[in-house]
Amino acid sequence: MQLDFKKLGKSDVDIPVLGLGTWGIGGFMSKHSGSEAEEVRALKLGLELGMRFIDTAEMYARGHSEEVVAEAVQQDRENVFIATKVSAENLSFDDVIRSCESSLRRLRTSYVDLYQVHWPNTRIPIQETMKAMEKLMAEGKIRNIGVSNFSKKQTRETQEALSKTSLASNQVEYSLVERSNENDLLPYCTSEHVTVIAYTPLGRGRFLEDRRDRGGRALDEVASKYRKTRAQIALNWLIVKESVVAIPKASNLEHVRENAGAAGWKLSMEDQERLGEAFS
Ligand code: NAP
Repeated sequence: MQLDFKKLGKSDVDIPVLGLGTWGIGGFMSKHSGSEAEEVRALKLGLELGMRFIDTAEMYARGHSEEVVAEAVQQDRENVFIATKVSAENLSFDDVIRSCESSLRRLRTSYVDLYQVHWPNTRIPIQETMKAMEKLMAEGKIRNIGVSNFSKKQTRETQEALSKTSLASNQVEYSLVERSNENDLLPYCTSEHVTVIAYTPLGRGRFLEDRRDRGGRALDEVASKYRKTRAQIALNWLIVKESVVAIPKASNLEHVRENAGAAGWKLSMEDQERLGEAFS
């Protein structure tokens, strides 16, 4: 199956409007003791349904999440867009190189499609970090450079620190219930052609519960108008925006199927505004 695509930043790469989050896949702060078979199945189903973009990080389950991702993409690596992240404590030149090489080993691949700085670290100049990123890119170990949790000012500084390529993306929390980046960072990224990767797009399930407030009522009305679910409306509300893609995480196969159904159609501008207002 094919999903809708968007250009990644100013690159010539097309990425699906929905990717697969992996925070909790393989464990959270450390490797969990349970079986990973179900998680691998969920990732594989997501790929089959067109969500051929997986977001992970060296920090997730202390690297084990990347190993689970490797398991899921093994047969078809070339057709999956893999994004991972270097942690804030590893942003010195040498540490970035070391972290990337460890991620490549765990992911069992020779390159990552998008390498992101997970959180800013004001103790290490961004120029130093970007120098290492550009070296990795020149060596073919990473194909695009991104950041995460960067403010508008930090995004601009990162853009200025790059001399051989442009910043592809900024991954930030964005959903109907988390709107703090909407009026400042989002328009900036849109005008600069920096893709916004919306994380926690379902508010970790917070607004999918049976809430009866203004937001919940608006969500239900719009959901019944489009014959979609609350989750699908909430995700479509994000991906209809010009520069936004979203990376919901789901280990439950039904959730994966439901989330894939959030693409391929569009909320009207009027309904987007109505939802935006109901949740503000
Ligand atoms: P999320 O995607 O908003 O929510 C995930 C939770 O929602 C899981 O408990 C999942 O349950 C449930 N869920 C998924 N689809 C559902 C559906 N259709 N109906 C009902 N419940 C559903 O939250 P997130 O995991 O925090 O964010 C997504 C991804 O963003 C992460 O996995 C990670 O890759 C990334 N992220 C990045 C940062 C950063 O600092 N850059 C921070 C946080 C997250 P099941 O798993 O049981 O299906």
